[in-house]
Amino acid sequence: MLKHNLGFPRIGKKREFKRACEDYWSNKIDLSTLFQVGKEIKRENWILQDIAGIDLIPCNDFSFYDHVLDMSLLLGVIPKSYSSISVIKNHIDLYFSMARGFQKNGWDIKAMEMTKWFNTNYHYIVPEFEKNQKFLIFSNKIFEEIEELKILLKSTKKIKPVLIGPMSYLFLGKEKDKTFNRMDLLNQLIPVYIKIINKIKNQGVNWIQLDEPILSLDLSKEYKDFFLHSYEMLSQCFSNINVLLATYFDGISENYSIVKNLNIKALHIDLASDINQLENILTNIKNSNMSLSLGLINGRNIWKNDYKKSKHLIEETIQCIGKNRVMIAPSCSLLHVPIDIGYEKSIPKHLKMRMSFAKQKIHELVDLENIINGDKDLLDKNINIFNTSQFFYDKKVHKKFFIKNEDLKRNSQFKFRKEKQRKKFRFPLFPTTTIGSFPQTKQIRIIRSKFRNNNLSRQDYEKKIKFFIKDVIKKQEEIDLDVFVHGEFERTDMVEYFAEKLNGIISTENGWVQSYGSRCVKPPIICGDVSRNKNMTTHWINFAQSQTKKPVKGMLTGPVTILQWSFVRDDQPVYKTAYQIAWAIREEVKSLEDAGIQIIQIDEPALREGFPLKRKNWKFYFDWSIKSFLIASSVVKDETQIHTHMCYSEFNDILNYITELDADVITLETSRSKMELLKAFSKFSYPNEIGPGVYDIHSPRIPTVNEILDLIKKASELLPIENIWINPDCGLKTRTWEEVMKSLKNMTKAAKIARKNYRIKQIK
Ligand code: GLN
Ligand code: ZN
Repeated sequence: MLKHNLGFPRIGKKREFKRACEDYWSNKIDLSTLFQVGKEIKRENWILQDIAGIDLIPCNDFSFYDHVLDMSLLLGVIPKSYSSISVIKNHIDLYFSMARGFQKNGWDIKAMEMTKWFNTNYHYIVPEFEKNQKFLIFSNKIFEEIEELKILLKSTKKIKPVLIGPMSYLFLGKEKDKTFNRMDLLNQLIPVYIKIINKIKNQGVNWIQLDEPILSLDLSKEYKDFFLHSYEMLSQCFSNINVLLATYFDGISENYSIVKNLNIKALHIDLASDINQLENILTNIKNSNMSLSLGLINGRNIWKNDYKKSKHLIEETIQCIGKNRVMIAPSCSLLHVPIDIGYEKSIPKHLKMRMSFAKQKIHELVDLENIINGDKDLLDKNINIFNTSQFFYDKKVHKKFFIKNEDLKRNSQFKFRKEKQRKKFRFPLFPTTTIGSFPQTKQIRIIRSKFRNNNLSRQDYEKKIKFFIKDVIKKQEEIDLDVFVHGEFERTDMVEYFAEKLNGIISTENGWVQSYGSRCVKPPIICGDVSRNKNMTTHWINFAQSQTKKPVKGMLTGPVTILQWSFVRDDQPVYKTAYQIAWAIREEVKSLEDAGIQIIQIDEPALREGFPLKRKNWKFYFDWSIKSFLIASSVVKDETQIHTHMCYSEFNDILNYITELDADVITLETSRSKMELLKAFSKFSYPNEIGPGVYDIHSPRIPTVNEILDLIKKASELLPIENIWINPDCGLKTRTWEEVMKSLKNMTKAAKIARKNYRIKQIK
């Protein structure tokens, strides 16, 4: 029974990687220092896994930015705009220019597109293919890493290089233009994969891991055929090397027919995300020679493995296919969890013993092997942990679990609420607002961090934040917006802010996880029943409202987003946890309303990324996520206006769900898709009010009045004009004040011109 790992975090124990990359980008260190830091991280990771006793240690799982971009470099998939930057002299600078863009020496090349890696919070650089894309072995990174590990281990026996398989690699990319289908490139791509694998074989390596996570998606018949075809071609190099095909993030039962016929040594399945697939796969795999790698240890969450459960699964598998054909592993790469629980000093002991970060997960594999070999002590200890380490329990919270129908409904339907709200607010046609945050200047960051580290008294902190709020209100008067915000200066992060204030959620000191490139996030941990014991936002919102006659929006993060961007407790179904957060947010909504706040925005930017990978699971997800939003939002009077914000631009297939959220106003990201997405809203006759973003906040460019007017015109052709709001497409916290003032002034100017043009009298 082999114990192996699919990938280890590459950010270093204390984010050494982040610092080194950023120092290199700003010319503070040279290339050899950067490589030295990389080497050190790899070495530490490998030694840790080797000492623990792992049988197959991954290599090429390290990356200086992103493993998909590594793959593009390996295969020579480099768009011309980057390969033609003549001042770039080496691979790594070329690589960084693709990841981050290149603005130097008169060059101004944008970064390549980045998008979310399946349903995780990791982002990859989208490969871009040309019509007659040539593939070749361009980078030597993988071969060099194999040599490094060889020297360290003094043998090749345990080395298992990781590659993204050809099908997932093509699938995750995009065509430069629409004149061809990227699957047409398979016949050119496969021969290069064969060359790579042959070269790896020549290095004396016995194992290779091909990641094909797209097997966890719904694949069309066409894709299934492509898959079989490409692996048929590829398998000519599978002799004298053990190929492990790795799938993860969901079950593969639907696509098992593809895998069944592949000429591979072993198949890895993710049992943390789909335990039910095991039975089906065992029945099918039984009469073949294929080994089965059980992804038992959850690579997406931070809780200890339940050894009793795993033991049972391993034994069932051994019984079916024999011990020799069984492998055990984490469910997916450990990239998605922090490195070492050992650095956490403030997590209460009874919780900490229930937790397991990457390093601990590696040791869990070894424990499981020992348990299978009869170590009863280890098993008992683990059972004992599960029996004694209760998550924080709160009787009051459980009482609320009974959701009544009226908890999910506003008092009246939107058409009646709309009338009441219009009478009350008397907004002009095309009312203007922003999404919430205003520029987070260095000064603000310093003040927050001083306060956090007890270097600034609460009184002084309050004074300073209030100063910024006063200032942002004055600026919004000057811009002449219709609905104001308080600016979110007290928040470092929209989830962390609420996580710190709610019961049942804790933060870590060093629990960093890579999000993209050098950027890491520190997800909070939901470790008990969630509740709110005091107001979280009213203090700041009330102050902001006291400074102006214009309505100030109360600004909250929605329950689904808080859940999605945290590590979630594993002892109850996620929907229960979502409902608990929703009740807490509902109380805050009520407090805001009671305090006289008339408009409340509940942001749900993560609703979309929470979608299950398979369509068959959508209904269930929507059921609880919509209910969560409704619990949080429907407590208010008809006259109180509920806004929500979502920042992505694919709604076509989910409009009926979005409608069920029944927010009075939804603001969206549409400026980059030039209102294309509104066609869907229009066709669907979306009933409520809607603020399509009229400019892209992700770019420093100032939109012109005419450009914005154009978009307003387009929107007006597609939607009832009295339903249209005018706003930027996301929060402004990453922009400078100069950009924001100019852009927003152009925006309000455009709205005013549009009002005149449409000559529709304000509803009186
Ligand atoms: N209110 C938040 C802000 O403006 C929304 C952020 C988001 O959509 N991710 O920053
Ligand atoms: Zn947004």
